[in-house]
Amino acid sequence: MVDERARRDELAANLAAVRGRIAQACRAVGRDPGEVTLVVVTKTYPSEDVLRLADLGVTDVGENRDQEAAPKAAAVAAAGARVRWHFIGQLQRNKARSVARYASLVHSVDSVRLAHALREAAGRKADDGTARAPLEALVQVSLDGAAGRGGAVVDRAGGAGRAGRSDPDTALEEVLAAVAESDSLRLRGLMAVAPLGEDPGPAFERLAAVAEAVRRRYPSATVLSAGMSDDFELAIRHGATHVRVGSAVLGQRPPLG
Ligand SMILES: *Cc1c(COP(=O)(O)O)cnc(C)c1O
Repeated sequence: MVDERARRDELAANLAAVRGRIAQACRAVGRDPGEVTLVVVTKTYPSEDVLRLADLGVTDVGENRDQEAAPKAAAVAAAGARVRWHFIGQLQRNKARSVARYASLVHSVDSVRLAHALREAAGRKADDGTARAPLEALVQVSLDGAAGRGGAVVDRAGGAGRAGRSDPDTALEEVLAAVAESDSLRLRGLMAVAPLGEDPGPAFERLAAVAEAVRRRYPSATVLSAGMSDDFELAIRHGATHVRVGSAVLGQRPPLG
């Protein structure tokens, strides 16, 4: 049995600490904390925790697996709470329709084929037959230059002359264009995960440069989703507008089995 009072107090204290860290990181670089959205990542934790968080003022929650997120979103809606769901994990194309039903913002679009699947899913009528608002999307950028762990790949030479070197399905330019050209999607910006085993500072610095270049061409691409429990201060320093924080709020997750 969960001690309701103790769990609520624990979440409230953790949230206050994270909000304090965000405010401090913003102050350190002269940013307004109002520019940074805290997305609380609730993966592996039950819908009851989402309800507690909503009650504590959390408006944005993140999930990385559709199998877990879809029933959780339904349970939270059935309980009468309203939060914005962010889909932040690697997404298979056959899950696009499910995710489009509950997600407000998909952070992890990293291939042209996935962009097309989401375009199709988001273009379908809602269950009540009405047209849906465009699905907001971020293109996930690979910061280690390889598509393997998720993320579209930046062509560092920046030239079309190197076409053929990178897979056009996962080349950042092509993924951005596929999202931007879709009526049922709205390109809102970029997302990235710091590479494992590398100092995240230089990686977030590269990301900031890519984000600036992308924003010049796509003015709606103002969102930069970067930073997790251990590195969000650095991400804020490099311009993150959305930080995705799980364990610092909910507690350490059991290791993936
Ligand atoms: C789990 C997860 C997070 C949150 O990680 P914590 O270290 O628990 O804060 C952020 N982003 C993605 C993509 C995740 O999968």
